[in-house]
Amino acid sequence: MKFIVDVMLGRLATWLRLLGHDVIYDRRMDDRQLIRRAREEDRMIITRDQGIIHRKAVRHFVFITSDHIADQLAEMKQLLGSGNGLLRSRCTRCNGELYSAEKIEDIRDCVPDYIYHTHAHFLRCSTCEKVYWEGSHYRHLKEVLQQVLR
Ligand SMILES: [Zn+2]
Repeated sequence: MKFIVDVMLGRLATWLRLLGHDVIYDRRMDDRQLIRRAREEDRMIITRDQGIIHRKAVRHFVFITSDHIADQLAEMKQLLGSGNGLLRSRCTRCNGELYSAEKIEDIRDCVPDYIYHTHAHFLRCSTCEKVYWEGSHYRHLKEVLQQVLR
């Protein structure tokens, strides 16, 4: 499922990408642009803004009521299912698809030495080339997901 997320839900957008969903999040978009893009690209609108959901042009949306990320994910639980898994994550910076990267020299230049020597697996964004590794960030993610998606 493809989503488009309003400006108030940046953190939720990041989490949805980590879960492997295709998410548009752009702080420069106003409400009208957001709604148009949702229609053109057949995306579900995720919003915290009552003003958006009451517009006629808006058909498919999830209205988020909580300010807390765990509760926000819980509100989307039915749509998220069990998630696509971390290996299918999207880049949290640009929404690009991640691929499994070999532990080679060009990875070495992109991560701290300590990380390079203590990790065997890396993921890389196919669009902006940002490098990811399974560290404390992912552990935290897994813990929250276990609570939320149980
Ligand atoms: Zn990227």
